[in-house]
Amino acid sequence: VKFEINILGCGGAMPTRHRNPSAQLINIQEHYCLMDCGEGTQMQIRRFGLRMQRIETIFISHLHGDHYLGLPGLLQTMHLLGRTKEVTVVGPPQLEQLLTDHFKLASTKGLRFPIQYIKTQAKTAEVVFENKKFSVTSVPLKHKIATTGFVFREQEKPRRFIPSAAEEFSIPYYRIDGIKNGDDFIQEDGTVIPNKEMTLDPEPALAYAYMSDTAYKESIVEHITGVNALYHEASFTEENRKRAKETFHSTASDAAKIAAMAKVKHLYLGHFSARYKNTDGFVAEGRVHFEDLTICEDGMTITL
Ligand SMILES: [Zn+2]
Repeated sequence: VKFEINILGCGGAMPTRHRNPSAQLINIQEHYCLMDCGEGTQMQIRRFGLRMQRIETIFISHLHGDHYLGLPGLLQTMHLLGRTKEVTVVGPPQLEQLLTDHFKLASTKGLRFPIQYIKTQAKTAEVVFENKKFSVTSVPLKHKIATTGFVFREQEKPRRFIPSAAEEFSIPYYRIDGIKNGDDFIQEDGTVIPNKEMTLDPEPALAYAYMSDTAYKESIVEHITGVNALYHEASFTEENRKRAKETFHSTASDAAKIAAMAKVKHLYLGHFSARYKNTDGFVAEGRVHFEDLTICEDGMTITL
């Protein structure tokens, strides 16, 4: 089963020739989430051959333009393509008004599909979305305006049924789901077959954390401990520490320290300021604190 992240944009506030503003398409067991939607996101979806109508849930971290300005355009294209299926938008409380006013005041007569809004708050962590496959927890970040990161976590998976057990113990097909969920099986003569003789341990539940935008914030650690992949912003390197402080952004060392404390499996850096010509400094700085680190590029796919 899939848990995959397509990096649509990993640039900072200012788009460059190689990096678009923030956006990621996350496929969790065939449920498609969009994480942030900077300007040009719909073009990136096209460019990388992905399908925007598959998106069911959209998460917006905060209302700085480089994280949401692509949303009106994307929703309008979904409308033009004939979408009728509801979209869920999870984000700051002002987002509903913002989009409603836009579509009311602009010449669009409204959208053909409903939008369900789920409002985030940046005070305490909470589960903001959940279904049978996964849950999403919002995590307060430290930025100039109210901002939340998100942790996407698969639900515990069922045990894996050993196919040969069906014949060996004469198990009818309709009992298999229950056995995957931990049931023992009682044969016709009353013999009890313990669950562990028919099943293997489940696949581990995977988790992905998206933390952007934020200054260094240690309280993030408890919410992302052990995740398989952490995307953490690194707008600057230490030479621009002052600028990072003023703008409430992180440096590569900040991000790597958080990754090390949280013992994540892998760290992905992004949201680089347009002033940097290359990312060598980010790698060198980050690896001092955390070895398993990758610099994101637009178009890259992360598979958990
Ligand atoms: Zn921001």
